[in-house]
Amino acid sequence: MDRVIIIRYSEIHLKGKNRAFFENILKRNIISKLAGITHKTDFCYGRYVVSDYAESDEQAIVSKLRQVFGIFSLSIAFRTTASVDDIYEAAKIICPKSGTFRVTVNRADKTLPYTSVGLSAEIGGRLLEYNSSLEVDLHTPKSIVYIDARDRNTAYVYSDSIAGAGGMPVGSAGRGLTLLSGGIDSPVSTYMMAKRGLKLTALHFWSYPYTSYEARKKVLDLAKILSDYTGNMSVIVVPFTEIQEAIHAHAESNYMITLVRRAMMRIAEMIADVNRCGCIINGEDLGQVASQTLESINVTNSVIKHTPVFRPLIGFDKIDIIDIAQRIGTYETSVKPFEDCCTVFLPDSPVTKPTIRRAEANEAKIPNYDELIVKAAHNAEVFVIPEK
Ligand code: ATP
Ligand code: MG
Repeated sequence: MDRVIIIRYSEIHLKGKNRAFFENILKRNIISKLAGITHKTDFCYGRYVVSDYAESDEQAIVSKLRQVFGIFSLSIAFRTTASVDDIYEAAKIICPKSGTFRVTVNRADKTLPYTSVGLSAEIGGRLLEYNSSLEVDLHTPKSIVYIDARDRNTAYVYSDSIAGAGGMPVGSAGRGLTLLSGGIDSPVSTYMMAKRGLKLTALHFWSYPYTSYEARKKVLDLAKILSDYTGNMSVIVVPFTEIQEAIHAHAESNYMITLVRRAMMRIAEMIADVNRCGCIINGEDLGQVASQTLESINVTNSVIKHTPVFRPLIGFDKIDIIDIAQRIGTYETSVKPFEDCCTVFLPDSPVTKPTIRRAEANEAKIPNYDELIVKAAHNAEVFVIPEK
């Protein structure tokens, strides 16, 4: 008998012919997540089983697996032969010390010398004899002892399931470029799209010296926290100072934010192309600030030529975004008070209903604007955040 961790995966079964593709990506992600911890991962009967680990590593393994997208649930189980005696020995350990319980059996191998009902009655009866503080309740038991008898040599006995992160394995949906500021929203939008299976590269616009080295470090710290979920992630940092100064010097001040955001989108699409990212993600949320009105989003988006832009937070209330940020561990870092480049040269009254015509007219006033945009993209610096 040994202790193992059963990993059940979610949604993947919906994928028909692509199933093996998803299973392989999930397996790869599990292996890289558990790198550095001695263990074995096997694929058996439509689930993964982690075994041969030191008991002292068990909680660490479970915590790590709970951050892997594509995993629906986990159970710590005893693995035994399918003999009634061996199963009973495991059930004795799994069963609570008192209260109501039920035994539920899945008998995958129909040649085993008992029926599901017969085995649950046998194990239930023995447990009652063993511990008189137990009571059977078939309908609303406090605990359930599950027995999954796979074949003569293998049965799993377990009680609880621990919820996994859900979603799709990172990498199964392709690659995306996520715009990561130091704020609360974009780490959450990054997390959400990784959960849908995108392998992400992060892009940050940095306006040194208007925004400090600490502000840049904050973004790298956020990426480090996110890498628990996204796996290793590159953060591309674009020097944005010159562009912002040029906009500030030549454009109408109430169009400052609009033009800044259009510049970000143009650079993002160039960088997405070079990095073979099939989509751009940002943390925009309709109506949250002046730059996120319908008109602003339209004027910003209109510079995009061919790349879909995903805004997973578009219909979220701030309070719900904060909830997720706290749950995934980015909130504390996000609220550290460092400037983001969006607050540099902030006008008193940014336009809330910009038009594409006027935005373009303002851009036309900036000397060598296209060259500035290309130059910024060109001078980007890449930081590789390894998976923790
Ligand atoms: P956040 O909390 O994510 O900063 P926000 O509510 O402050 O969002 P904005 O500052 O208008 O909103 O930014 C909207 C989105 O634009 C952000 O969620 C992010 O995806 C992107 N963005 C803003 N500033 C930057 C930056 N300096 N670098 C990269 N992306 C940025
Ligand atoms: Mg911001």
